[in-house]
This record gives sequence, structure tokens and C-alpha cells, in this order.
Amino acid sequence: MSHKMHADWQRMAASLTFETRAFIDDTFAEAASGETFEAINPATGELLARVASCDAPDAERAVQCARAAFTRGEWSRLAPGKRKKILLGLADLMEANKHELALLDTLDMGKPVSSSLGDMAGAIACIRYQAECIDKLYGEVAPTGEEALALVLREPLGVVAAIVPWNFPLMMTAWKIAPALAAGNSVILKPSEKSPLSALRLAALAREAGVPRGVFQVLPGFGHTVGKALALSMEVDCLAFTGSTQVGKQLMQYAGQSNLKRVYLECGGKSPNIVFADCRNLDKVARHAATAIFHNQGEVCIAGSRLLVENSIREAFIEKVLKAAEGMQPGDPLDPESFMGAIVDETQYRRVLDFIRQGVEEGAQLRAGGQSLEGPGFFIPPTVFDGVTSSMAIGREEIFGPVLAVFGFDSEEEAVAMANDTPYGLAAGLWSQDIDRIMRVTRRLQSGQVFVNNWAGGDQTMPFGGVKQSGNGRDKSHHSLEEYSDLKSVWIALGG
Ligand code: NAD
Repeated sequence: MSHKMHADWQRMAASLTFETRAFIDDTFAEAASGETFEAINPATGELLARVASCDAPDAERAVQCARAAFTRGEWSRLAPGKRKKILLGLADLMEANKHELALLDTLDMGKPVSSSLGDMAGAIACIRYQAECIDKLYGEVAPTGEEALALVLREPLGVVAAIVPWNFPLMMTAWKIAPALAAGNSVILKPSEKSPLSALRLAALAREAGVPRGVFQVLPGFGHTVGKALALSMEVDCLAFTGSTQVGKQLMQYAGQSNLKRVYLECGGKSPNIVFADCRNLDKVARHAATAIFHNQGEVCIAGSRLLVENSIREAFIEKVLKAAEGMQPGDPLDPESFMGAIVDETQYRRVLDFIRQGVEEGAQLRAGGQSLEGPGFFIPPTVFDGVTSSMAIGREEIFGPVLAVFGFDSEEEAVAMANDTPYGLAAGLWSQDIDRIMRVTRRLQSGQVFVNNWAGGDQTMPFGGVKQSGNGRDKSHHSLEEYSDLKSVWIALGG
């Protein structure tokens, strides 16, 4: 069932049932308060379900349960090879249920179902990779004299709270929970209030795979209620966060106000994509530049939202970008041919439209899009502004929507200065055939990742994360396991 048609997806969507309760202590249950919130399909405006709205008492119960599980040791002290087996079983269950999981994300947040299926492949690959890593990591024996044996052991941290956003609901979840669980921690997941449904289905699959009681729990609800309670908890040892820079800053404060828990942040971006005149195949580069911003409706942390083009090719290149964007119009997310879907909700939709209005007011030149599409649902077409500067809101702020800001430059120096003129540092791209220039510019870009002659390249082996106000964490690769484990130094005196 690798390729399904539009009508198949519609049929499957119509017959889907939703788990809406929190998953605490191996049991699905309503929030202690009985409160719920609405899950709305942004492509139709229809109510999908009412979901348990957890708050501090639910967080407290889940934290106690997670701590008890960690202390019992059924997972934390289990041989890594056995944890691996259970996590590989979870990945197999996800694979078997990938159409349902993909559909849940599509209905909940509006992305095209073909994108959701790609996310599922990424999520499953991440769980398999981290599971496979964990029984291949060795501790260390430190160099000492004969009077001692000195060991450096790696141990799980304890209770990890993973707080994730809505733009890649299940994939961002996997990037956090896979290494955290593999390392032996108890994990409490707080999905975004805009996309809780796939996380709750995942909880059932984790139970079925044999993840022990209290080791993986899911608390749907709002950031300022249950998210904040987890972040302030004295019994949570680590916050693994993906989301906005603003909330990331709050989480660091909560850690300081409570128990100095570790805080790993994967935050926002305003990523520069630099096109030098010497790059090869302008048509191809233009298609990539358009995909870099319009994929996932622009709701991507590493969206190539600032396109920096050498002035000598700027007009010709923009024409090609406009042509590529023309073929990326939004459509029904259940149609596997749709390239873009709906914006996640009305708030985000209005926010994006507001940025577009400011772009026009501040004097940028609107070259494509700009108008919302007829409802129902929240659809915005690919929008391109030329003549943007860093002082304009659309050139500076993370819009998180399908809005491309084009800047012109005349020299390499100027391009690098423009690229780095942002508080963010998540991703950057450059297109050129000159290897000297490629390496010179790559080293000078303030960015956690640099894509050369591609955009968004990478696989499970590559760390993913930012510098500056894009955060301090690294998802994926074996480096992410380091974040969810601690070093214990053991000095064993000998011979006496
Ligand atoms: P957000 O910061 O509003 O919310 C993220 C999560 O934090 C949600 O689960 C939310 O409920 C929770 N939250 C909000 N306030 C909280 C509080 N006071 N205490 C505890 N939790 C709280 O972000 P969003 O709108 O869901 O996602 C979009 C943002 O995520 C963008 O800035 C985007 O760049 C970023 N993002 C970054 C990456 C990355 O890897 N760097 C990946 C995807 C998204």
C-alpha cells in the first residue's frame, strides 16, 4: 500500500477514530480536571475531536510515575540490547500503522499526506537508528597508574520531559524520545496543543511494543499549563524542547527557578540561502530555493526564508523561482499530489497574512501570492517579496509561513554579513561551483548546519541543531544520546 489515491485517503480519514485521552501510568484517562480542548482540521475548519487538557495535577502524577519507573529499573537498568529490541519493535509497529499515523498529522495540522508519509519514514528511521546505537556505545577506562582502575560510565539522566511543536508532530517527537528512551530514561511527552493526536496513538503502540509502565507517557494540553508544570517540576531532570525561541527562553528561566534541570533547545530560524552567480544550473537551484521555503507551507524551522541572490543574476533568477513557485500551490492535504496544504490554524494564518501586509507597507516588492485563498480552511499561496532588507519585519522575523524574502548582494563579503545579520543560526545554504569560496563562506556562516549545493540535506547520521538564538541542542546522530545521559566517574583504588 505504498501509493494511495486521493479517494482512498478521504475514505480512510472518514473512518478514523481518535484517541483523545492522556496516557499516564500505562492507562488512557481524561485529565484530572475533566477539561478538554478542540482539535480542529485546518483544511476544513471542522472539529475532529475534543482532547484531554492536562494541567499541573496530571503533570505531577506522570512525573511521580516516571520517577518510580526509573527507580524500579525495568527500563533504566535493562541491558541496552534489550531496550534496543523493544524500540525496534516499536518502529515496526509504527511502520505497520504508518498510514494511520500520517493521516492523524495531516488532519490535525494540515500538511499534505505525502509529506506526512515522509515524516513517518523519518520518525521510524530515527527510532531504529537510536535503538541500534545504544548497544554499541562503550564506557571508558581512564589512563591511571597501577594503583587505581578509573572508569567513566554513561548513565541515563532520569525523567526527561519532551515538549514539541506542531509542524512535524511525530517526527519531532521521534527525534526527542528515540535517544532519550534508548539511553534508559523515563520520558514524558507534551505534544503541541495544535497536533496532539499522533502522539496519543504512539502511546498505544509503545505499550503494545512492551515499553514498561511509566517509561513513556503522553500529556496533551497547553504550554502555559501542563508544559509549564513539567518545566518547573523538581523531579524532571531534563527538558528536551523544540519550538519557538521565545518559549525556549522561558524554559531556561523555569529551570533556574526550579532544579537546574538540563534544557536542550531546538528553536526558530530565519535561514539564509545564498545563490552566487557562479552556481550551476539556475533552473534546478531555483526549484530548490522555492522548495526550501514552500515545503510544509513554510512551517519549517530550517525554511530557507531569506534568499540572498548575487545582483548580476538576480532578476533572471527570481523569474525562475516564480515559475517554480507557480507549481507549488496549496491543495487538499488528502490529495497525495498536493505540494502545500493548509496553515495550521487561524491564529497562525492571521499572523502570516499580517507579515505579508507589513511587507507591502514597508516597501518590499510583492512578486507572487500575498492573498489568502477562499475558505473553508486556512490556505495561503506561495508568496515572494523582492527588495527586502534586514530592517523590514519580513526580512528579520521568523514568519513560519510560505513567504520568501529576496535580498540582493554584490560581493561575497556582503553576502556573509547579510546572512549572519540575524539573532538566529539554525541553517544556511550556499550555491557555487568554487570550492575555495564554498569553504571560505561555510566557515564564516554562523549556523548549526550548512547546505552546499542543496537544501536540507542530511540523514540520521548527521546532528541537527542551531547556534545563537536557534538553540543549543543537537537532535539525531549518536551525539543526541550524549544529551540524554550523564558521565559518572568511578575511581577504584587498588593494591591496598
Ligand atoms: P511554541 O514555542 O509556541 O510551542 C512549542 C511547544 O512548547 C508546544 O508544545 C507548546 O505547548 C509548548 N509551550 C508553549 N509555552 C510553554 C511554556 N510556557 N512552558 C512550557 N511549554 C510551553 O512553538 P510552535 O509554534 O509549536 O512551533 C513553531 C516553532 O518551533 C518555530 O519557532 C520553529 O522554528 C520551531 N521549530 C524548531 C525546530 C528545530 O529543530 N530547531 C524544529 C521545528 C520547529
